[in-house]
Amino acid sequence: MKNVAVIGAGTMGNGIAHTFAQFGFQVALIDISQESLDRSVKTITKNLDRLVAKERLTEAQKEVTLSNISTFTSLKEGVKSADLVVEAATENADVKLSIFKQLDAICAPETILASNTSSISITKIGAATSRPDKVIGMHFMNPVPIMKLVEIIRGYATSDEVTKLIMETSKKLGKTPTEVNDYPGFIANRILMPMINEAIYSLYEGVAGVEEIDTVMKLGMAHPMGPLQLADFIGLDICLSILNVLHEGFGNPKYAPCPLLVNMVTAGKMGVKSGEGFYRHTHGTKELIVADKFK
Ligand code: NAD
Repeated sequence: MKNVAVIGAGTMGNGIAHTFAQFGFQVALIDISQESLDRSVKTITKNLDRLVAKERLTEAQKEVTLSNISTFTSLKEGVKSADLVVEAATENADVKLSIFKQLDAICAPETILASNTSSISITKIGAATSRPDKVIGMHFMNPVPIMKLVEIIRGYATSDEVTKLIMETSKKLGKTPTEVNDYPGFIANRILMPMINEAIYSLYEGVAGVEEIDTVMKLGMAHPMGPLQLADFIGLDICLSILNVLHEGFGNPKYAPCPLLVNMVTAGKMGVKSGEGFYRHTHGTKELIVADKFK
């Protein structure tokens, strides 16, 4: 496995491309938006500069990493010689199913098709292709170059051979791959999102304020940040959409999103990306805003 195509040059795609390139893979980074591709190469360069400044990488290694990445707006051109495709496009089932149908038609029959989806069924994505045995989830964590985990999701039809190969490939990236079966939320989000939802319910029901909830979980459980601050970082719209997937997938009311979360997303309060969520975010600083409102 030498040639990797990464589809989607957003937050995750640039980190995935960076990581494969740094570990010697030839990477074709593909996006429908030239602007996303340009922004992505700038971000990768900035992140590599930071590694050089910390003496974790030499200037020469940085240059080799950058030279391992080519960018494309054409899917057909980009995936031409790919042994592995990692799709990290927008989290929308229709977008992903359409990409995988095209990939199945364009790519060589032996090419493995992976998705970085946070919540869409790998079995469903695999069923849109004629090679469900070669479709697998590679769920990287943000920021990809730093986070060690890759959740490897086996769809209902994913073969043992493909799972083994993807586990080995993830180890070559210096990651710790962890195999899980394909059920709603996989493991990471099935456990994380109910915790975040419960934190929001605790605020909504007036048990405690934002700061108190985050402090209890930070200092009491040794979490690096509280669940409400983490929700702001992930994006409240993303949290809501993953909770909806859990709720619909299991049909269990314990996953029902808190009405406060629904209200905040409807009002456009998405967290860091919109400048306001449970905290107000300006230029990397955060300020408490809704704690007292719900006491
Ligand atoms: P993003 O919005 O930052 O980037 C998505 C990119 O996909 C955009 O540049 C967009 O132009 C591109 N795109 C859309 N349709 C496309 C198409 N048909 N072909 C090629 N490119 C297309 O999104 P993101 O946060 O990087 O998330 C990408 C995927 O990774 C999603 O499936 C998401 O669930 C998953 N994920 C995200 C995180 C996170 O923390 N952001 C963590 C783990 C997994």
